[in-house]
Order: sequence, then C-alpha cells, then structure tokens
Amino acid sequence: MESDPEGAVPAEEAELIRTRLAGVEQRIADAALAAGREPGEVRLLLATKTVGPERIRVAIEAGADLVGENRVQEVRPKYEALEDLEYERHFIGHLQSNKVNALVPYVSCIESLDRLSLADRLQKRLEREGETMEVLIQVNTSGEESKFGIEPDDAVGFTREVAQRDALRVRGLMTIGLFTEDPDVARPSLAALRETADRVRAEGIEGVEMAELSMGMSGDLEVAIAEGATIVRVGSAVFGDRPAP
Ligand SMILES: *Cc1c(COP(=O)(O)O)cnc(C)c1O
Repeated sequence: MESDPEGAVPAEEAELIRTRLAGVEQRIADAALAAGREPGEVRLLLATKTVGPERIRVAIEAGADLVGENRVQEVRPKYEALEDLEYERHFIGHLQSNKVNALVPYVSCIESLDRLSLADRLQKRLEREGETMEVLIQVNTSGEESKFGIEPDDAVGFTREVAQRDALRVRGLMTIGLFTEDPDVARPSLAALRETADRVRAEGIEGVEMAELSMGMSGDLEVAIAEGATIVRVGSAVFGDRPAP
C-alpha cells in the first residue's frame, strides 16, 4: 500500500475510508452533544502523515476539509497533487527552523509553535513577504519528556513573547495527550490544555485569541471534546494503521 501511494485507490479501500470518515464524524457529533456542545463547534483535522494524496483525495471528496501534516517533505508534493481541491492545510509536527521557508507557502496554520527561535524565523520570513500566519502554541501537558511543547507554567510568558511578533496570530493551543490505551487516563492531560488556555485568556494579551484547542486523536477524541477541544486530529481511525516508523 505504502509502496504505491500515488496509485489509484482500490474501490473497496475508498469505500472503507468513506465509511470510517463518516463513523468519526458521527463520534464527534455524539461526543459534542453528550458534552452539551454543538457538533459544529468541533472540527475534524485529518492527520495524514504517510498517507498518499490519492487516499487523502477520497476523504476530501467525501467532505473532509482540514488536513494536517507532520513532515515538511510531505507537504508540498501532496499540495501539488491535490491542488484542484478546496481544503485547509495545517502543520502539526515538530518544525525545524531551517524548514520554515519550505513550509510557509503551503499552510494556513502552524499548530506546533514551541520555541521562540522558531517564532523568530517565522516572523522574519513572513515579514519579508508581507504576510501573516495563524499559530497554535504547543503545550506539553502530559509531562512526558519525549513530547515537544512548552510547559503549562510557561504558557503566559511564552504567549506574551509570541504576541510581540506581529506576523504571528496566536489562535489557541495544541497538545498531544498522554499516550495510553485508556482515554480516561489521558483526561487530565487534555483538561490541562483547557485550564492553560483559560489562564492565558485571563491575561487579555493584545492580539492573542484562545479560540482553538487542538487535542484528541483516534483513541481519545470523546474525552478531548468533553474537555473543550475545538479541533480533533484523527489519522488511523480514518486511514487505518500506519506502517511502524
Ligand atoms: C498522527 C498524529 C495524530 C493522529 O493520530 P491517530 O492516533 O492516528 O489518530 C494526531 N496528532 C498528531 C500531532 C499526530 O502526529
């Protein structure tokens, strides 16, 4: 499958992608209603690392309108292969500063802003082009050392600094919750993002919005929505298991 990512998608597999997508959309709607929220308050972002453009096309043609990539080298080829389609692109992976120029033209939001050196590189590039970029600040709410993201306690200070870079429009926060089989074990790490956003919002920092909370994946999207997610990032529940890294 992975060896031929550009090939036509077999009809059966296309049908499976559509069925799974509808299932995830239903899970989102059910979770929103269960939490006393409107289903329309939660957007589905398809996390498409390792998924070829033809499979992504199937999902977009079935109604998906937001795609997130983790790897800069996958962004442009997929953008070019899907150029005829109308959909939004975010970046959700760890971004090296030297890849900023290769990424900026192709996405509308970087969800993984996690250090000031990166903010400076983005600011410089955007300023030169007279452009702005939406960003989410990535917060490490699980305390796992392997995860990128600023510490929750640094969120107010960090956001104040980013707000000084006028080409960057802070729209909210992103986290990768605790990896666990049991979504309830992940809950505190998801609730912590909402609490962090509340603290930042209370500061009333000029130009900063805390409108978006990007959290929740295939396994824990219900808990994330109960805790206030506005964007859930889903990969395997739509496209199937990824090849092991
Ligand atoms: C892969 C990935 C996801 C989606 O994970 P699934 O478990 O496949 O739904 C979400 N967010 C990020 C940052 C990812 O890298």
